[in-house]
Amino acid sequence: MRYFIFSKNDKRSSEAKKILNDNLLKLEFEEDENNPELVFTIGGDGTLLRAIHKYIYKLEQVSFIGIHSGKLGFYCDYTIDEIDALVDDLKRQDYKIEKIHLLQAQVENEIYYGLNEIRIESPFTTFRCLIKIDNQNFEHFRGNGLNFATTFGSTAYNRSLGGPVIENNLECIVMQEVAGINHNIYHSLNSPLVLEKSHQITLEGSFKRAVIGFDHRYHELNDDVNSLTILLSERCVQFIRMRQVAYFERLKRSFITD
Ligand code: NAP
Ligand code: MN
Repeated sequence: MRYFIFSKNDKRSSEAKKILNDNLLKLEFEEDENNPELVFTIGGDGTLLRAIHKYIYKLEQVSFIGIHSGKLGFYCDYTIDEIDALVDDLKRQDYKIEKIHLLQAQVENEIYYGLNEIRIESPFTTFRCLIKIDNQNFEHFRGNGLNFATTFGSTAYNRSLGGPVIENNLECIVMQEVAGINHNIYHSLNSPLVLEKSHQITLEGSFKRAVIGFDHRYHELNDDVNSLTILLSERCVQFIRMRQVAYFERLKRSFITD
């Protein structure tokens, strides 16, 4: 099995990386940074996202396993103190592959992919656009921006914006406003909208000084862009799930303390 370990550089993560690496070599796994079949990430969800974007054009060949070294790690299944258990689980070869669809935004000839979300934001000046759903006019929006999250990303930026947390087996897109302007002249839905997975959302307007963000990455939009389309992609990220971690356990562990 060809593998790569994508790790944060802090001391704990680096030590865990060495232990895991020694164990994988004993199993006769072969390190291959360019063409891995299996990518272990050590860090948190941010590390997982960065690893996924490193292989964004090879996702069909790669599966990911997240190991959590002290940050939030909502989607990491093991901690760095559980490397022995992880190696035992690998030996058993008893796992499921969970496929999670990415969101994609088409802007002119470019496609941007996000596992958590794709957002259009303009912090400098009011962003205005017409929102179309499946090519039908839906509403005019004015405000700082719009966030489109996947189910996977519903616990990330979407949640901070007051969007719903969505159980992980429901495939959908959540559209949420970022500081929408709502008064007796301008009004938009002003509430998160959960769309069934097959819808396409098109934004038409001026994207001058706006930024398209996709997970931790972003790109400044050109002045001449006047439309972009967002939809759930056919492309997927593949996670290896060797242990069952119930979604509500993840939620409790990450967000609820008592
Ligand atoms: P980052 O530091 O990598 O992430 C910010 C926080 O979001 C970290 O605590 C991270 O967990 C957590 N996180 C990321 N994906 C998550 C998910 N699917 N569910 C629950 N928590 C999640 O920041 P970044 O590099 O700028 O951006 C990466 C992602 O962070 C973005 O996709 C965005 O969703 C999120 N973010 C949120 C806010 C906000 O809520 N105001 C601001 C910026 C970014 P770890 O500690 O485990 O890495
Ligand atoms: Mn599907």
